[in-house]
Amino acid sequence: MASMSKLTKRRFRVWATVAVLVVLILAVRLVEDIGFDRKPTDRFTVTAIIDGDTMELGGGDRLRLLSIDTPEKDEPFYQEATDFLTEMALGKTARIEFADTRRDRYGRLLGYVYIDGIFINEAILENGLGNLYLFRDTDVDRPETGCMLSAQRRAIAARKGIWSITRHPEESYIAKNTSFRFHRPGCASAARLKKGSYRVFRIREEALMEGLSPCRNCKP
Ligand SMILES: [Zn+2]
Repeated sequence: MASMSKLTKRRFRVWATVAVLVVLILAVRLVEDIGFDRKPTDRFTVTAIIDGDTMELGGGDRLRLLSIDTPEKDEPFYQEATDFLTEMALGKTARIEFADTRRDRYGRLLGYVYIDGIFINEAILENGLGNLYLFRDTDVDRPETGCMLSAQRRAIAARKGIWSITRHPEESYIAKNTSFRFHRPGCASAARLKKGSYRVFRIREEALMEGLSPCRNCKP
């Protein structure tokens, strides 16, 4: 009986050692794959590029890059912005940090995208291929917003991409205190504002340097 028991114990020890080794190997592979602080679900393959700020992910979801806006099809630098995102992202594995509001009203995911250690949202602004586009409920105190605004300021100063376009200047531009958009003086969205509820900018760049973005209707 005693020898049986010894044999059982030895078998148990062997199997326990094997089990511990297997768990260790799996743990190491998991950390290699996704890192300590990440969830496996945070990584996606970029399967298609729709335009300068929208991509399709493995699984079929569309993702809209958070807090930026790139030129529309009929606008200058549309193709450059689309080509840039294609080069940076297509076929690659992206880590995504989702917004608190995970999807927009079109059902698209919203997030910050990181590929090969590059913060893609910021890289687009750095190259002048889009502008910062914040909403009232965007967390403007997030460090990512600061990074993106700094990149935009550098691109404006260097007149890169969309900032190289010459525009006919208005005498001034206006923005409601509660909004991240600025307007031409004649825009309906900025009409009949009460004194003290809006700010006036002498030149367009002043508003942009502060992180405001052009109204999509009056396109200042
Ligand atoms: Zn407007």
